[in-house]
Amino acid sequence: MKKKLKLKEKIQKFRAWRERPCKVAPMSTEEHECLNCHDHYVGKYCPRCGQAATTQRFSMKVAAENFVNEYGMGERGMFRTIRDIILRPGFLILDYLRGMRMSYFAPFKMYFLLAAISLLVTHGLNITGQPLQDDSEADKVEVSAGKDAEGTDKTETDAAKSFKEEYPRQAKIHSIVYGVVNKMERFAQKYPSINILLILMLISGNLYFFFRHSPNIPDLRYPELFISLVYIANMYTIYSIVFSFFGLTKLTSYAIFLTIIPLKQMSGYSWWRTILKTVTAFTIMFVLFVLFIVIAVSCIAMFVRAFGS
Ligand SMILES: [Zn+2]
Repeated sequence: MKKKLKLKEKIQKFRAWRERPCKVAPMSTEEHECLNCHDHYVGKYCPRCGQAATTQRFSMKVAAENFVNEYGMGERGMFRTIRDIILRPGFLILDYLRGMRMSYFAPFKMYFLLAAISLLVTHGLNITGQPLQDDSEADKVEVSAGKDAEGTDKTETDAAKSFKEEYPRQAKIHSIVYGVVNKMERFAQKYPSINILLILMLISGNLYFFFRHSPNIPDLRYPELFISLVYIANMYTIYSIVFSFFGLTKLTSYAIFLTIIPLKQMSGYSWWRTILKTVTAFTIMFVLFVLFIVIAVSCIAMFVRAFGS
């Protein structure tokens, strides 16, 4: 009983911690002389030129620290940002949008860094030591899918064969659509970071429509949503890097459901409302996307029928 209560307390504490904005450390009252412009001041940076008060002669340690800071891993907390993006993604986004810019790693810079790491992992830097998908295997699938009506394939079932003989045009369209879907799946596995950003950008208009008057941000602007989506893409990329590293490509595609968490936290809607809004936004995008593919494929088919031999 007591143990249960303690756990409850811990969860409550964690929840309160999640919602609290990140705390900035207090400043020392020590006076510094700027080594660049020789002004005297109190604070971490020279108010005239912006050089850090900690500037000193180079040593191995200082050079390493400079390098790390250059990439935002010291002052702007790359590791803190990663921790927060996993434990409180939506609240981190709220902090950032409300003006706490220097406390977090900048979203786009973070995205490019993570995308680079993700590329390395999916292209061989993982526990299998191999690129995630066997290309020869994938090509085989594609060849059989893209084969025309006359083509014979040993793996083909009789039903599929008779379907092809009876409706050659439909079979061709089917194989084109299948080929497109197959290509998209392979792209998503090889470039999860690019894939998620593309999806989120495609859906951003719909999300903006559903989240622009949320309890936490009653007047959300589109650019603010855009920045939020970059952070959400970063969250997904972190998960996909971990999953891809262990060769769990299936989990990478399921991780897309985790995007609900930051949307819920930043909007302040209930879980069900957030899910309903997000699913609707996705569905609208999906329908539009399928419509686009159908129109494109029929245009190609018409073109082939008109001009092809
Ligand atoms: Zn100065």
